[in-house]
Amino acid sequence: AAKQRKSGAVIYSPDIDKSSQKSLSLLSELRAALEQQAFRMYVQPKVGLNNGQVIAVEALVRWIHPERGFIFPDQFIPFAEQTGFIRQLTHWIMNEAARVCSLWNSQGLHLKISVNISTRDLMDQDLPIKFAHILQQHQVDASSFCLEITESAIMDDPVRAFHTLDRLHAMGLDLSIDDFGTGYSSLAYLKRLPVNELKIDKSFVLKMEKDIDDTKIVKSTIDLGHNMSLRVVAEGVENTEVMALLKELGCDQAQGYFISKPMPSTDLPAWLEKWQQ
Ligand code: C2E
Ligand code: CA
Ligand code: CA
Ligand code: CA
Repeated sequence: AAKQRKSGAVIYSPDIDKSSQKSLSLLSELRAALEQQAFRMYVQPKVGLNNGQVIAVEALVRWIHPERGFIFPDQFIPFAEQTGFIRQLTHWIMNEAARVCSLWNSQGLHLKISVNISTRDLMDQDLPIKFAHILQQHQVDASSFCLEITESAIMDDPVRAFHTLDRLHAMGLDLSIDDFGTGYSSLAYLKRLPVNELKIDKSFVLKMEKDIDDTKIVKSTIDLGHNMSLRVVAEGVENTEVMALLKELGCDQAQGYFISKPMPSTDLPAWLEKWQQ
């Protein structure tokens, strides 16, 4: 079931509950995609609100399917998480992020790269060793990376997740709490985990120029983050009013369509040149 998006891109609905036959074929398609290098790492800039400089990027995966075309992550990430395929995909993304980081460093470009991590990844005791190996292979520093973790990723088995995250942090990787404010235990995790960054969920940011409650929530979150010496990032910044409001509230970084949509990592250097003008 392919349908057309507003952007013109074709997306695929796996309908995973309908038949296990279909699930099996989707899983083998994902495996084939990895072999055929059909995944792409897109990046979206994070900009400092005090000076407009690009400080970091978030890595967001896309699937270029030979028949169905461009596929967004919401169409296959949940399935990849259910089946455990996500471990291989995360490994690919981390490797790609390290490769691109090394390339950019050689061009004098130093940006932190954020990678999204899922619950299945955190259950893997060998994840820190695997990441250390990737960093060593590409000769890049752990401090060049940030791992974005959602609350649901931790909830399944908090003890095990905490243990893995502690080890990753000890290696020098930054940790970020993604979609902050949407879960039940965000505050508990903030207390327990060695977090460096807090990402305010876009549901609070998208219409904050029109909704005073959203503004109050965003302001309180920024204050909370700063009181705990964390950097605070707002995602889903779509217009200049929200950008100005966030700056006024003292938010550290902004990410969203107003700055740029996610783009192929190869497009970033040229985009940066234009942005800096
Ligand atoms: P997320 O981590 O919360 O990523 C932010 C999503 O918001 C991205 O959607 C991004 O394109 C979108 N976005 C950015 N700016 C704006 C804006 O101004 N307005 C609006 N409305 N949306 C904006 P995307 O790329 O489709 O990814 C969706 C989700 O899929 C991500 O949510 C993340 O949970 C997951 N995902 C994407 N790539 C990966 C990956 O490599 N690994 C894992 N585990 N999950 C991934
Ligand atoms: Ca994220
Ligand atoms: Ca998010
Ligand atoms: Ca999300």
